[in-house]
This record gives sequence, structure tokens and C-alpha cells, in this order.
Amino acid sequence: MNIHEYQAKALLREYGAPVSDGRIVLKADEAKSAAGELGGPLWVVKSQIHAGGRGKGKFVEASAGEKGGVRLAKSVAEAEELAKQMLGRTLVTHQTGPAGKQVNRIYIEDGSDIERELYLALLVDRATSRVSFVVSTEGGMDIEEVAEHTPEKIVSFSVDPASGLSDFHGRRVAFALGLQGALVKQCVSLVKLLYKAFLEKDMEMLEINPLIVTPQGQIKVLDAKVSFDNNALYRHPEIMALRDETEEDSKELAASKFDLNYIALDGEIGCMVNGAGLAMATMDIIKLYGAEPANFLDVGGGATKEKVTEAFKIITSDPNVKGILVNIFGGIMRCDIIAEGIIAAVKEVGLQVPLVVRLEGTNVEQGKEIIANSGLNVIAGDNLSDAAQKIVKAVKG
Ligand code: GDP
Ligand code: MG
Repeated sequence: MNIHEYQAKALLREYGAPVSDGRIVLKADEAKSAAGELGGPLWVVKSQIHAGGRGKGKFVEASAGEKGGVRLAKSVAEAEELAKQMLGRTLVTHQTGPAGKQVNRIYIEDGSDIERELYLALLVDRATSRVSFVVSTEGGMDIEEVAEHTPEKIVSFSVDPASGLSDFHGRRVAFALGLQGALVKQCVSLVKLLYKAFLEKDMEMLEINPLIVTPQGQIKVLDAKVSFDNNALYRHPEIMALRDETEEDSKELAASKFDLNYIALDGEIGCMVNGAGLAMATMDIIKLYGAEPANFLDVGGGATKEKVTEAFKIITSDPNVKGILVNIFGGIMRCDIIAEGIIAAVKEVGLQVPLVVRLEGTNVEQGKEIIANSGLNVIAGDNLSDAAQKIVKAVKG
């Protein structure tokens, strides 16, 4: 689960991180008083969406010369004006996809003077099964380019969970960031509190870009992006409360309510499969025969009729879906029960696109018979390869 920048900063402030004062604005008429509560003389007006690259992003139907989703203002009036301009607009960044995201919240922050922009991130490194620090002196809006063209400027190391974090790690970060004098001490404390927050809140990623050094000799968290491990959310009701469902894909949201593992993709063939491995194989074979999957969907081992119906609803609500491939292995479940579930789902939801069903496993013959006798326009697939070719042919002709 992701949260907004302003929420991440509030969380890090609780751990003692140096962040600027700021106010959240949900309605245009709150902008003036929010900006007025901050001292100035510089204000930063920041679009809050669950995507990075806002500074370099572009609003849909931007007027000539209009800049991105993070803007500096020199007065309360200007900050108010910018906030009003941004609210409700759609911002496209390199992380939102071409459709962009609607800006429903604006964060107005006390502006900082910047001497240097640095990069500091913590993440769960699957290769080492440890928490890793990733740091670079080249922070700011071009970090992707640094990673691509000068990866040697990015330093990374992991922390041994048995011995935990010590000041040594903080100094290592400070050294990699080229910090000296009093800044080293600030960096060591920051690293300590970030690591603590990361572990206690079960974060998956914590990215600070930029971490800045001010001309006054302070380091400050200027941007913060945090995502949490969904499997640990049950023990963090305070984090769950920060969830912004408007930021999530509506189909993925519906799927999560029915405990379906669903991820929306860009292709034209909707997939309903049980088991993550089989779901991956199904996506691969669709690609092999020249089409693209519209989703990843694992209905799970104990798929009930209700789950199958819900999965159908989610798949058919995607306007990109031009055909559906059901690929179910009856292991724990029996194929005849699955076949009944599919037919019930098709009858309830209706079917506007070709449907290929491939069943294998326990009671497969009864399952196939039920589908054949259903009177519905369902194409039977004999095996994975046959089923994939049939659905691709049905969609592409
Ligand atoms: P992102 O583009 O979504 O990563 O948004 P950021 O919060 O990182 O802001 C983008 C850029 O705006 C930063 O890299 C800074 O250069 C600039 N910026 C953000 N806050 C301030 C500020 O308080 N003062 C100044 N001078 N620039 C800022
Ligand atoms: Mg940033």
C-alpha cells in the first residue's frame, strides 16, 4: 500500500525526522488560510498523487508555459492561486502512465533554500533478504537518468538484521553523500530513525528524493515516498487509516475485497486462473501466441462460485477485454463444481466477448460435459496450448 507525501512526512516527523511545516488542502477555499499559516517568504505547492516525477510532470490541457505538479510561490496569494489551479486537474508523470492521475489533495509547504539535493532510500532487498540503503549524491528530479547512465554514482549496502543498525551505517551513508562536519551527525541520527520507522511500520520502500542540505547547514527531508507490506497491514490500523482508495485501480480494489489476487494489465485477453504459477504460465502462453493478457488473476485454490462470479465481473468491467480465457486446475476443487460456477457467473454477468475454458484435474470429464450441455457460447480448450491458440484466434481472427 502506498501513502501520500504529506502522510509520509507526518509519519517521519513522529520519529523525529527534519521536515518542513506544511498544510493539506482538500478544497480550493482552504488554500488561502493554509498558505497564510506558514511563514514564507517561500511556499511550495505540491500535488499529492501516488506517483513520483510530479515536478517534471505535465497537467492535461496545460496552458502554454504552465509548469508541473510542484511549484514555488513567493506570496500567500500566489500559493493560493497555484493550489486552485492544480486541484481537480489530471497530472501525467513518467510514473502515472499516459492517463495520468487526478489531483484531489494539495500540500502547501514552507519553502526551503537548497544547497545540495541528495538521494536516500531504504528498501527490502530480496536478493539478500535484508533492508538495504541506496544513496547518491545526485538527488533530485533526474535520479532515473543517474541510474541509467552513471550507476557508479549510486551506492548501496545492506544491514545485517542479527547485529542491527549502528552509527557505523549512518557514517557510511554520510560518507557516500559527501557530508562533513556537523552534517555527519545529523545524517547518523536520520539514518537511525529512518531504519527504526522502516522496521516498526513494516515498510517495503522509503524513498527520500531529494534529501537536501540547506545553506544554514541543515539536512531536511524534502520529498518522501513510502510503501508498506500489505501482508503486515493488519497490525497497523493507523497506517490502514491513511489508505486513499481513489488512488487505486477500481478493479484491483474490488478484487482485494473478495480476496482475489488481481493486477490490471494493458492487453486484450482477460485471464481467470487458479494458482499464481499457472496464472503466470497462462500469461506467457497468451503472449507466445501473439496476444497480450489484460490482467493477472489468481482466484486461489478454494475458488467458490461467488469468487468466480466476482472475478468475471471484474474482468468484464475492463473495456479493453476482447476475450476471456479461463484456465483452472481442479486439484483441491473439483472440475464439475468449477464448471457450474463458471456457468452461473456467465448467466449472471452476461458475456459480450468470446470465452475459452480449459479445465484439468479431478472430475474433468463431468466438468467438460456440464459446459458442453450449458447451451452457452463457451469454447472448450483441450490443453493449455490449444486453449491459448483458440482465444487468440477468437480475438484476433
Ligand atoms: P517529485 O518531482 O514528485 O519528486 O517532487 P519533489 O517533492 O521531489 O519536488 C520536485 C523538486 O521541486 C525538487 O527536486 C526540488 O528541486 C523542488 N522543490 C521541492 N520543494 C522545494 C523547496 O522547499 N524549495 C525549493 N527551492 N525547491 C523545492
Ligand atoms: Mg522527489
